[in-house]
Amino acid sequence: MGSWNTFPRSVRELTEWLYGADARSFADMAAHMDPMPSVTPDGASFPLVRPESEWRAELNPDEYHVLREAGTERPFVGEYTDTKTVGTYACRACGADLFTSETKFDSHCGWPSFWSPLAGEAIIEIEDRSLGMRRVEVRCANCGSHLGHVFEGEQYGNPVDLRYCINSISLTLSPSALPQE
Ligand SMILES: [Zn+2]
Repeated sequence: MGSWNTFPRSVRELTEWLYGADARSFADMAAHMDPMPSVTPDGASFPLVRPESEWRAELNPDEYHVLREAGTERPFVGEYTDTKTVGTYACRACGADLFTSETKFDSHCGWPSFWSPLAGEAIIEIEDRSLGMRRVEVRCANCGSHLGHVFEGEQYGNPVDLRYCINSISLTLSPSALPQE
């Protein structure tokens, strides 16, 4: 684990707050207060709509909790946190391509971070007021599954000053067939 002193203040405070003694109950409470909507903010249906019973049967319990109940995996434990492999990251629920290794960067925040999605229409962003904070949630535009959140203005030095903070467990990496750099 890197030095906590180098973390953006807001992320550190968020992490401590989320993963304190009551983290589990807060997360559960938030999930129940703010169930996964079946429509986009525009009121349209997601292109892929499946009964929750099917998602529950297909995904393992941890995947289901993050993807379909908008949970958050613990920091620094996700399989793609520090991954440098060249390739494409797809939605672990539906397989839609979402991010590429080209925009992945070292945020030291404990979750995979990208400064841009693969394409603007690959994801949708929804204002999230759960847990008493205003954040912008990121979901798969194809199936509506929860991916993470996007933060702006943290001055990581990337071209657009954005950080898509995405749960590893929401993604599946397909390594590129091209030679690794
Ligand atoms: Zn999806």
